Amino acid sequence: MRIILIGPPGSGKGTQGKLIQKRYSFPKISTGDLLRQEVAERTSLGKKAEAQMRKGGLVDDEIVVELVKERIVKDDCRQGYVLDGFPRNILQAQKLEEMDRNRPGIVIEIHLPEEVIIERLLARRICSECGAIYNLFGTKPQEEGICSNCGGKLILREDDKPDVIRERMKVYYRQTEPLINYFKQKRMYRRVDGTGEIQAVFCVICSVIEEDMAKLKEAQAPR
Ligand code: AMP
Repeated sequence: MRIILIGPPGSGKGTQGKLIQKRYSFPKISTGDLLRQEVAERTSLGKKAEAQMRKGGLVDDEIVVELVKERIVKDDCRQGYVLDGFPRNILQAQKLEEMDRNRPGIVIEIHLPEEVIIERLLARRICSECGAIYNLFGTKPQEEGICSNCGGKLILREDDKPDVIRERMKVYYRQTEPLINYFKQKRMYRRVDGTGEIQAVFCVICSVIEEDMAKLKEAQAPR
C-alpha cells in the first residue's frame, strides 16, 4: 500500500507520517528530509536544490522524482510506504504512478486553516542532529533548545522564517492544492481535520487507513 500525505507546510505530515511508520511498519519517505540531507552533505544535487529551498520554491521535478525513484525500490518499501511532501504537483503525481504502477494507494489530506498553519510554523523547532520535530506551544523538549531524543541543538528551519513561509504557502495553494481534485477524480482522496491534538488526528488517520486496507483485502480475496 502507498499512503500519500498532502497538506500545507506545518499541517503535521511529518509528525503523522512518523506515527504511521511506527504503527504499520511502512517507511516514511519525506522528500524535504532527503533534500535537506543532500544539502547538508554538500552533494552536487544538494547544491542544485539549495537555492530553491531557501526561497521556499519547489526544487526541479527531475531531482525529486529521481530521489523518490531510488528510495521506493529499497527492500523496506516492499509492503508499502508513506510519502510526506511528494507529489507536490500534478507532474510528480503522474511520474509516481509511472514508477510504481500497480500499488494501491490512498491520499490523505491533513486540512488546516491558513492562520493556524502560520502560527505553527513559526513555533516549530527541529533537531539539527536527528530531525525530531518540536513545537514551542505543543510538543516541547524537556530542556529548552535541546532535543529530548539525542541531545542535539534545536533550530528554527531556515525556511520557517516569515517571508519564506509566505512563499511556501503561495506555492502550496498554486501548485499542490490542485492535486486534491486530481486524486478526487481517481477516487483515492480522503480528508482529515488536522486541528486537533496529534493523537486525535492520528486516530482518525488510522481509521481511514484501516477502512481502505479492509476494502483492499476484500477486493483481493478469492471469490
Ligand atoms: P518540506 O520539508 O516537505 O516542507 O520541504 C522543504 C522544501 O524542500 C520545500 O519547500 C521545497 O523547496 C523542497 N521540496 C520538498 N519536497 C519537494 C517536492 N516534492 N518537489 C519539489 N520540491 C520539494
